[in-house]
Amino acid sequence: MARLIIVSNRVSQPDAAGARAGGLAVALRDALKKNGGIWFGWSGQVTEQPAEELRIVTRGRVTYATADLTPQDHDDYYLGFANSALWPLFHYRLDLFEFNRQHYEGYRRVNAAFAAKLAPLVQPDDIIWVHDYHFIPLGVELRRAGIGNRMGIFLHTPFPATEVMIALPSHDDLMESVCAYDLVGLQTKRDLHAFDDYITREVGGEVLGHRCVRVFDRTLCADAFPISIDTENFATMAAEAAQAEQTRRLVDSLVGRELIIGVDRLDYSKGLVARFEAFERLLAKYPEHRSQVTLMQIAPPSREDIEQYQQIRAALEAAAGRINGHFADLDWMPIRYLNKNFTRRRLAGFYRVSRIGLVTPLRDGMNLVAKEYVAAQDPADPGLLVLSRFAGAAEEFRHSALIVNPYDVEGVADALHRALAMPLAERRDRWQTQMEVLRRNSITQWRDSFMETLERTGEKTAMTARAAS
Ligand code: UDP
Repeated sequence: MARLIIVSNRVSQPDAAGARAGGLAVALRDALKKNGGIWFGWSGQVTEQPAEELRIVTRGRVTYATADLTPQDHDDYYLGFANSALWPLFHYRLDLFEFNRQHYEGYRRVNAAFAAKLAPLVQPDDIIWVHDYHFIPLGVELRRAGIGNRMGIFLHTPFPATEVMIALPSHDDLMESVCAYDLVGLQTKRDLHAFDDYITREVGGEVLGHRCVRVFDRTLCADAFPISIDTENFATMAAEAAQAEQTRRLVDSLVGRELIIGVDRLDYSKGLVARFEAFERLLAKYPEHRSQVTLMQIAPPSREDIEQYQQIRAALEAAAGRINGHFADLDWMPIRYLNKNFTRRRLAGFYRVSRIGLVTPLRDGMNLVAKEYVAAQDPADPGLLVLSRFAGAAEEFRHSALIVNPYDVEGVADALHRALAMPLAERRDRWQTQMEVLRRNSITQWRDSFMETLERTGEKTAMTARAAS
C-alpha cells in the first residue's frame, strides 16, 4: 500500500489522546499508522528567523513534520488572506471580507515555501491529501516542483456560490490551484453544485460523467464527502460522561429545568447573536418557558487577533447581558454564557443531559457539534436537534432535525417552543433516523471513501476521456 501524506495548517499533536485529538485527527492518524506516512503543516509557532530544517517528530511509521512562520507570513497568510479573506468569503460574509494583494502574495509565498519543504520528503507512490483553505495552492506548487503524485484536497468550509466567489479578485488564480488536484472533496451536494457552476460559468470548464470535470487543460474529479464523527465512540463516551461529576453538577444546578445547549467557537459564522435573540423571543412570546428553561452557550474564543472576532465577542456579551438583565429571576438565569473551552468528553456529557441541541450557524461547512449532539443522546429519552438549514449537516438531517432559518428569529423561537413540547415517540423516531445516518457515515467511512476515490481518480478520468472520444 502507498504511503499517505497529510497536509493541514495545524498538525495534530502526536501524543494527544482520543478525547483531545478529536475524531478527524484520530482517523487521519490511524490511516497514517496503517501504511506509514507524514503529517505536514505549520508548527503553530511564529519566529523571527525560522530554521531552514523542518521540526520532525517520529512515532513508529509516522513522521510529523512542521515549519514555523515569520511574523510577516503569519500576518499575510494566516491572519490576512486565509482568515480575513477566504474564511468570510467562503461563509458568505462579503461585509467582512477583506482583500489585499499583499496578503494574497503572502498566502502564495507561504504555500510555495511549504511545498518546497515538503517536496524532498515525497516518494514516488505517496498519496498526498491536503486539508482545507489554508493550503489550496500547495498542490500546484508541488506540481511545479515536479511532483506528479496523486493529490487530493478536502475543503472543510462551504464552497460559495459563484456570485460570492467572484468577489475575490484572484478567484480564477485560486481556482486554477484548486483544479491542480486530482480530487476535490467538498462537504455537501450544495457545495458541489456551486463548484460545478463556477467551473462551467466562470472558466469555461465542462462537467463530465463519473463526477469528473475538464477545466484549465486537465481532468480532475470533484465530489461531496460529508465529514462525520466517530459515532460509536462518541455515544459510549457520552453515556459514561453523563455520570461524571461535572455533568452531575450541571444537572443539579438546573433543579429540574430543561436545558438547551449551544457549543460553537466564537465565530461570526455561527449565528450566536441571532441565536440569543431567538431565545429572547421564545421567552417573550411564550412566557410559560420563563424560569423553566435555560440556554447554556459554550463559546471558546477563537482567532482573537482578528478585529471581527473581538467585535462578535462584544456583541454577544452585550446580548447575553441585556437578555439576562431583562428576564432573570432570583433563582434563574436564562442564559449561561461560558467563554471557555471544554474537552469533548465533558461536552459529550453536557449534550446528553440537554433537551435541545441548538445549532444555528448562518453558514457552516458541516458542523460536527450537530452530529456529536445526536450521537450523545440517551436512546431511551433522546433530545432534539434544532438545526440551521445553512449547516452542511442539514443535508443529512433534513427530515429528522427541526430545520430552521437562523435569520428568522421568530421562526427559531417557534421551533424551540415546538421542540420543548415534542412527545417522546417523535423524538425517538427522529433520533433513530439520525443515528442510522451517523452509523452509515462515520469518520472512518468518510476517510476511506475519500481515499478510495482518490486512488481511483486515474481510472475515472481515463473512463471519462474514453466516453468523450
Ligand atoms: N469543541 C471542543 N471544545 C469546546 C468547543 C468545541 O472540543 O469547548 C469541539 C467540538 O466538540 C467539535 C469541534 O470543536 O468537535 C467544532 O467543530 P464544528 O464542525 O462544529 O465547528 P468548527 O469549529 O470546525 O467551525
